[in-house]
Amino acid sequence: MSVEQDLAKLRRLNSIVSGPLKFIISEVLEVTPLVVEWINVQTSGSAVCRYKTDNTRQYEVRYQFGNIGNLVHELTHVAVNESYRLDFINYPNWATIDLPNRDLDILGRCKNEDLRQTKQMSQAMNSAKSDTLMRLKGWTDAASELSAIQKTEISNKLVYGMINPHKESDTVLNQVLVWLFEWGFPITGQHVNKPIVNALYEELSTAVKLAYLEREKGKRYVRMNMPTV
Ligand SMILES: [Zn+2]
Repeated sequence: MSVEQDLAKLRRLNSIVSGPLKFIISEVLEVTPLVVEWINVQTSGSAVCRYKTDNTRQYEVRYQFGNIGNLVHELTHVAVNESYRLDFINYPNWATIDLPNRDLDILGRCKNEDLRQTKQMSQAMNSAKSDTLMRLKGWTDAASELSAIQKTEISNKLVYGMINPHKESDTVLNQVLVWLFEWGFPITGQHVNKPIVNALYEELSTAVKLAYLEREKGKRYVRMNMPTV
């Protein structure tokens, strides 16, 4: 699998889906021109920003080639940073914060990002994001239509988001939505009782949509207030 094949798959997916899943796939496709380096990794992944002197940003993205959920996760990091410009924080914070300047390495990568993130995150927003992930974990545990492995994978991802909600909430929401779709959910057709996994899919779609709309709002705010960047 190559990046080109994965991006082609994403574009194909974008043409057949609708609703929140389409919003986020379109969104991550839009930021791909900012990625200047794609690196294949065996596990996990990352998105790192290279802050340029002309105030533009480029990204290096590590992901598991062939893994679309993983790719969407990492590109969501990029989309988040482009929306809020808050050192990859997954929500807006328009308070005036006394921040240390970015300490950049030769490629423009921020060496004091953790410190800047800690100063820019909000406990209230962290709690709100965690609550959403916790609620979705509840639906996941209850979804008898998921296999044991699927449940474990989703739960692990949601817990990962709860550990660092300021960095990993929107990213895991998007990744899990892609997974569910790839696994053939929601279940279509007539049902006497609504499948629990469909309730999970709906709840997750709503959370994904809200986070997406928040990023769109963030983007507009940034454009108005930081017109040169
Ligand atoms: Zn991540």
